[in-house]
Amino acid sequence: MIEYAETEAEAVSAAQQAMESMNRLGIAPNPNNFAVWYIHHSRRLPDLSREINRLLDLGAKFGPEVNQTLHDRFVGQGDESRTLASAGERIEHTLDQLLRMIGAASKGTESYGATLADLSGRVVGADGQSVQDIIGVLISETQKMLRVNRKMGVELGRSAQEIRRLHDDLDKVRREARTDGLTGIANRKMFDRALREAADEARDHSAHLCLLMLDIDLFKAFNDTHGHQMGDQVLKLVARTIESCVRPDDTVARYGGEEFAAILPGVPLREAMEIGERIRMTVAGKRITNRRSGMELGRITLSIGVSEFALGESMTMLIQRADKALYLAKRGGRNRVVSQTELDLAAC
Ligand code: GH3
Ligand code: MG
Ligand code: MG
Repeated sequence: MIEYAETEAEAVSAAQQAMESMNRLGIAPNPNNFAVWYIHHSRRLPDLSREINRLLDLGAKFGPEVNQTLHDRFVGQGDESRTLASAGERIEHTLDQLLRMIGAASKGTESYGATLADLSGRVVGADGQSVQDIIGVLISETQKMLRVNRKMGVELGRSAQEIRRLHDDLDKVRREARTDGLTGIANRKMFDRALREAADEARDHSAHLCLLMLDIDLFKAFNDTHGHQMGDQVLKLVARTIESCVRPDDTVARYGGEEFAAILPGVPLREAMEIGERIRMTVAGKRITNRRSGMELGRITLSIGVSEFALGESMTMLIQRADKALYLAKRGGRNRVVSQTELDLAAC
């Protein structure tokens, strides 16, 4: 794991140097590149800095391929979200500080200018040439200070703007870290968090909470027959369809390869079964066609297991019950929705 500059000043400096280097070398300021150059300038990864310096000595061009290689080799896909989330927090904090500084600097400038202008007006009227000269100098000094301060304000403003841009990029990366890349719905990590939060809510308000686990039937065969790319299109279609059958605030997640989950807060078991049935029917009713060839590829079905949260139980138990119900749905012939209540019956 990569560690970051300890102080805010170091973090700001590394961020600014990273932006300058990327500007100078014509490197696109995207989050991956920023992570590489931020780490380089914060001097936390000597191997990365050695490689960058070697490339700089060679006069190498930092094109997309070189940048990608640097990122994958030294920062790594898996580390990206953690890396950037932590850098993002630092930068967010620094941005606030910078904005406060700019505010204070321009306020100070204004009041200094106002005081001296006022002084000059009064003294010039009352005394002779010498006093006027002194005041003249004071005024010119003031004007100089105004210019310096104004320049400082502009520079601070520019860094703040730069950092704000980075902050927006990082926000995007943070969102992406919670999203499944293929389908755009929540990923497993987000699912775990959303389920924990929903369970806390249900506990606090003695409310219902149901979980659907949904698995595409015989998907291996579909892939084998029509290819992985068509399979990917089906995964997207299924994700969209599940989303369209639940409320906007419910969490729909990709739980694993061809397995999905839906968290339904405030929904009792009977209603969750109805929602499951609606999803099952909508998916089964879709005709899968290859857009390019127009060829019909048949239909896709889902098996669905439904469980309801019981006070005091762990998330693992809730998931396990939905999983077992899903297994029963598969065993019962697929393309069906099975509730946890059927587990008890099956056990008898
Ligand atoms: P079952 O009805 O018992 O669930 O049968 P199945 O074939 O769906 O289940 P199995 O677990 O044997 O195979 C799951 C398949 O899902 C294997 C793999 O080809 C496919 N799959 C998993 N993830 C992806 C993915 O990201 N894209 C595509 N195209 N296929 C995937
Ligand atoms: Mg399957
Ligand atoms: Mg499966």
